[in-house]
Amino acid sequence: MTQQIVTRFAPSPTGHMHTGSYRTAFFAYLYAKRHGGKFILRIEDTDKERSKQEYTDEIFKVFETIGISYDEKYIQSENLPRHRELLQKMIADGTAYVSKEEAKDGSGVIKDIIRFKNPNKVVVFEDLIRGPIATDTTDLGDFVLAKNIDEPLFHLAVVIDDHDEGITHVIRAEEHIANTPRQILIHEALGFGLPRYGHLPLVLAPDKTKMSKRKGAIPVVEYLERGYLPAALLNAICLCGWNPGTEQELFTREELEKAFDLDKVQKAGAIFNEEKLNWFNREYIKKMNADELISVIKNYLPESLASISDEMLRKLVSVITERISSFGEIREMADQGELGYFIEKPDVDLAKVVWKTDTAKNAKAHLAKAIALMESVDEHGWNSTTVKEAVWPYAEEVGRGNVLWPIRFALSGRDKSPDPFTLADILGKKETLARLNDVCEKL
Ligand code: GLU
Repeated sequence: MTQQIVTRFAPSPTGHMHTGSYRTAFFAYLYAKRHGGKFILRIEDTDKERSKQEYTDEIFKVFETIGISYDEKYIQSENLPRHRELLQKMIADGTAYVSKEEAKDGSGVIKDIIRFKNPNKVVVFEDLIRGPIATDTTDLGDFVLAKNIDEPLFHLAVVIDDHDEGITHVIRAEEHIANTPRQILIHEALGFGLPRYGHLPLVLAPDKTKMSKRKGAIPVVEYLERGYLPAALLNAICLCGWNPGTEQELFTREELEKAFDLDKVQKAGAIFNEEKLNWFNREYIKKMNADELISVIKNYLPESLASISDEMLRKLVSVITERISSFGEIREMADQGELGYFIEKPDVDLAKVVWKTDTAKNAKAHLAKAIALMESVDEHGWNSTTVKEAVWPYAEEVGRGNVLWPIRFALSGRDKSPDPFTLADILGKKETLARLNDVCEKL
């Protein structure tokens, strides 16, 4: 029987995690799923000063929201007794030793630092993405394994945990390549078998430089708060630096679990760009039905629109979704007054009701005629098509701008809005005629 594949994601909860980190997580997860294996989440919280519970909670939350589950979960600091035990074993075996060294803080205090007894050899490993990598570890010297018997450092903790958790494939970020030879030496010193290693290329900012807090590195949790659909975010992140070798770009999680493999992960850094994320999100929006959209939109309506009825919302779904990339933009639309006039009669600037080449007198006459034409449309059959059919011939006859602009402006009070027939449809016959009559009288 072939060995079951076990991968892990081992974040240090020392800050918000960005797309690059989550991509590492998702690739490790997908690789396990693709091969019928297990995926483990290990929180590496041994750096007491920098680790924060809120960041650990954030990781759990993002996993849950995006729908990525783990088969096992570990908190590294809970394994300290085991780390201590094996550190003692290494000292007993002579693969590590206690070195009395003066503290670096200048206090003159002598400390018991634990160093690795480096066999000084060339370590070669076959990286799953980059192929063979050879390193002469002599240059690393007798590196430090622990600050003292109770404070093992990163490399030792990672090696022991990877071994104890049965990790077969360490899939992690490129920045850890330099750590791998050290970790292999520790594995060997402890008599452990080696996992395989795969180092994922960087995720880059759109200008092809490393992402940083100032450049493109937006916490994934923030993308979720901004109203990107979890499935779209997962899809966008996984298609960053990986593709199936076909033109297909839209993948559900289940499809990714079947299609993903490391051989199609590109070796060069991959750019994560928000425009592409917007594209993914809009594609996912297109796939949603009105009920699904309404339930998401409701979560993003600002206070000022809280009173909007479900009926009105249903009519507004396409007006909204045609204009947004992420649902958080609904708040911006509302702030810019692009939604308020649907639920409240706008204050209309009468000077602007008149089409640029027309006169107020004409505009009034055009509105009066349009009102009469619309009155003939049966209330039950009232929609954008029937209203258009009623008004269009007249608009063609006297000039489209002359007629359609005043209608649109009288209904919305805004320079930009959906077309007059869409507005009439959404507002309904009664409200449409009330608004048009009101402006017509005032002109
Ligand atoms: N805890 C490390 C980090 O967050 C990752 C360790 C590993 O993947 O081996 O960078």
